[in-house]
Formats: sequence, C-alpha cells, structure tokens
Amino acid sequence: MDIIDRLKQCLEPASLIYGDSLREHPACVFLIPKAIIRPQSTTELSKALAVCHELGQVVVSRGGGSGLVGGCVSTSEDVLLSLERMNQIEEIDALSRTATVQAGVVLQSLQEAVAEQDLFFPLDLGARGSATIGGNLATNAGGNRVIRYGMSRDMVLGLEVVLADGRVISSMNSVIKNNTGYDLKHLFVGSEGTLGVITRAVLRLQPAPISENTAMVAVSDFASLTALLGQADKLLGGGMSAFEVMWQNYYEAVCQEGKRHRYPFTEQYPFYVLIESLGADQETDKQRFASALEVLFEQGLIADAVLAKSQNEAEALWAIRDDVEALMEIFPYFVFDVSVPLKHMESYVAEVHKGVQEAWPDDSCCITFGHLGDGNLHFVIRAAGLYEEVRSQVNDIVYLPLRSRSGVVSAEHGIGLEKRSYLDISRSAIEIELMKTIKSNFDPKNILNPGKIFEL
Ligand SMILES: Cc1cc2nc3c(=O)[nH]c(=O)nc-3n(C[C@H](O)[C@H](O)[C@H](O)COP(=O)(O)OP(=O)(O)OC[C@H]3O[C@@H](n4cnc5c(N)ncnc54)[C@H](O)[C@@H]3O)c2cc1C
Repeated sequence: MDIIDRLKQCLEPASLIYGDSLREHPACVFLIPKAIIRPQSTTELSKALAVCHELGQVVVSRGGGSGLVGGCVSTSEDVLLSLERMNQIEEIDALSRTATVQAGVVLQSLQEAVAEQDLFFPLDLGARGSATIGGNLATNAGGNRVIRYGMSRDMVLGLEVVLADGRVISSMNSVIKNNTGYDLKHLFVGSEGTLGVITRAVLRLQPAPISENTAMVAVSDFASLTALLGQADKLLGGGMSAFEVMWQNYYEAVCQEGKRHRYPFTEQYPFYVLIESLGADQETDKQRFASALEVLFEQGLIADAVLAKSQNEAEALWAIRDDVEALMEIFPYFVFDVSVPLKHMESYVAEVHKGVQEAWPDDSCCITFGHLGDGNLHFVIRAAGLYEEVRSQVNDIVYLPLRSRSGVVSAEHGIGLEKRSYLDISRSAIEIELMKTIKSNFDPKNILNPGKIFEL
C-alpha cells in the first residue's frame, strides 16, 4: 500500500488532497507535492505523521507561505502539511491576558480578535494578512515592535507540538513563571519545521495601548543616529515601540516624484527615522513625545522632524517605511535581512555599499533600511547581470563581512534553504553539531523539512 492509501485510511476525505485536485490549492503554484495533508485536529495530524514516519515519507510544514528563505519549498516526492483548517482562536482569557490558539490562525485575525477585548498582541509584520501563528513561532518572527515587546519567542507561554513519529507534546503552560526543568517549547520556536509541527499555542497578550505618538525625524550623521536611539528611549520613558531607520536612498526611492508618497521634508538628509511611542494616557504621552523631540533638537541629534497630528498622518508616515513594493522598479533585486551590533553597523554598511558599487559600477544599487533599534538591517540590492549568476557574489558581499563583526546572517526569516551555506558565519562548529544532534534525536528518520537550516 502506498503513502496515499495509508493516509486515506487515517484521514477524513477533506483532510487529504492528492492527484489532479492538487493544482487547485494555492500552495501549488510552482511545485506540486505528492499530496497535501490538511488536518482538522491534533489527533488527525498525529495519526498522519505516524504513518509518514513508518514509511519514511518526507513532510514539509507550511503556514501562510510568507517566509522568504525557502523554508516550505517541497518537491514532487514530498507531502506538504498545511494547518489552514486548524485556525481556531480557542480562548482569549482577559484575566490572565493569554490567548490559546491553533497554529493555523492568521496573525491579523488574532490581532483583531484580541483588540475587540481591549487587549493587544504586539507581534506585527508586513505579511500579517497571510502569515500564521505556527509560521511566526517556527521562524521566531520579529517585526516592527521588537524593541518594546521582543520576538515571537517572548510572546509564547506554551506550545503543543506533534513530533515526527506522531507523539504529541502538550506543553500548554499558561503561567509566566515556570522553572520546572528544560523549557522545551523554546527548542521548537525558530526551528523552521525541522523538529516538530506546532499545532497549538498559549500566547501572552498585553493591555491595548491608549495613546500612540509617531514622528519622522531627519538625522545628519550615523553617530547622531545611534545616540538618538538611546536618548529617545530614555526620554520616552520606555514607551518607544519602533525606531525604524531609512537611509537616504530608501527614502528617495519611495518618495521621489510621481510615487505614492510625498516628501515629508523639504531638505534631503542622510537618514530618516520613524519613531513610535505607545502609552496609557493620551494627553500626558502627547506632551512627553513633543517635549522629547524638542530636547533631541536641542541636543543636536535631529535636524528636522515631522510630528503626526492625526491617525491619518501617522499612517502616511508608516506607509513610507512599509512601502517596499515601491522598490519594484529596480527589480530584479536581492533582499537581505541581517543583524549586526550597533557599534559595527556604520563600517559594515559602508563595506557592503562599497562592495556592490565596485563589483557593478554601472548598474547597481544597495537600498538600505531597518529596525535599527534591534540591530536589524535590510538591503535591497540590484546588481547588473543575470540573476542566478550574480547571486552568490552578492551573497558574499553581504554575508562575509558579518563574520569579523559578530553579525547574524538571518535576523528574522530563518535559514531555510537560502542561507544554509552561510550558517557558520553566525554559529560555531560545536553549535551546529549540537543542533544536528538535537535534530537526529527528535527526528531520527529525517522526515521533517529535511535539508532546511542544514544538511544532515
Ligand atoms: C511583506 C513581508 C514582510 C515580512 N516582514 C517580516 C518581519 O518584519 N519580521 C519577520 O520576522 N518576518 C517577516 N516576514 C517573513 C514571514 O512573514 C515570517 O517569517 C512569518 O513568520 C512566516 O509565517 P508563515 O505562516 O507564512 O510561515 P511559512 O512561510 O509558511 O513557513 C515558514 C517556516 O515555518 C515552518 N512552519 C510553518 N508552520 C509551521 C508549523 N505549524 N509548525 C512547524 N513549522 C512550521 C515552515 O516549514 C517554514 O520553514 C515578512 C514576509 C513578507 C512577505
């Protein structure tokens, strides 16, 4: 009996797609897997994984498919696992400020559901309308508010996971303090579907912010930029929730004539920063924000500022930062997401810009922006030549200078297939060996997302 017949025996018909029906599934745009499992419960998934394990069948987990490093790429020999039908918000507990959800819940649906109860799930990213909680946890997603609320890892209290052989680990802890031995959930957070399938989670919620203040400020040099980060955080009394930096070339690419956004400033500056602060009192916070900007002016850290006076104005400023689609006009390009300690950031960016310029003097650009508050930088690089032929040269220009600066080759999206050959820049040989030992232990037949993060 082949894998499809065996899966048919343990799954209800709606939970298995195979044959011609596969082409109708949105996950099958480029690659058609052998079958798609869409379980409706943990029990059903557990049975399916037990069968896959017995037959040595590779299983690739997929959430919203918004990851950008090839984490859910599958072949025609693989079974794709989609949690799209496990999308229930089971409970929002206002008293303990937790949400218990199935892993297929779309991030934006959770944000909206908790907001209705005057609560706040702080994780936020551009792909909020498609990314799932399972995918967010499996990639330890970060996003816009990491400086205030941390990464996905910091927002999870408990997890339920199905292991490769179908065993279910129910670690649905809901209290903040729990020091009873190894905290196993953290092994699965950021494991990119290689150690187990996340099926449910208990998430930590926050009180909904009452005030929101936003400004875009212009900065004249890099030293002022890093000083501004520390000063703004101090003056805003820990309320700062975003510190998004745009290098001049990003700002120019998004705002130039004919684009969807108007220049907020009449002059040009080397850097622009979007600062957001969330708080609990509209009037006091507004005053604190405005006087913080005044002090920053007096200290010479900012050269100009535009303070949003309404929600619409705040959204217009955020739209400049979020409009990466405006960069399509330089396509084809390569997108990077790295971290580097602040003290090395200026020299690192200069080295990457120089490397790109020297390699392709006539047709290249290196657009730069990032969540600077947590050391995270994005580059969108255009390099002359055929996409695949220049890819490894561009990768080397971006990743290799990270080694001497204790930088990180993946700040947010994970390693997937894309960054495997650069993993040793950010992880020591012994760390990689230990990761492989953990993988072999959890998944001895190597059926869960094999080849992602590293080859065994
Ligand atoms: C416009 C845009 C903006 C983005 N901005 C950010 C950002 O600011 N910060 C950030 O961190 N990321 C960002 N991303 C990347 C992406 O949205 C995140 O990595 C997100 O967490 C992926 O969720 P997903 O459900 O789409 O997962 P997928 O892309 O489907 O999968 C990602 C990985 O997780 C695994 N996986 C998925 N579900 C499960 C599960 N239930 N159990 C185990 N493994 C699973 C997959 O096998 C794969 O390895 C952005 C992407 C886009 C397109």
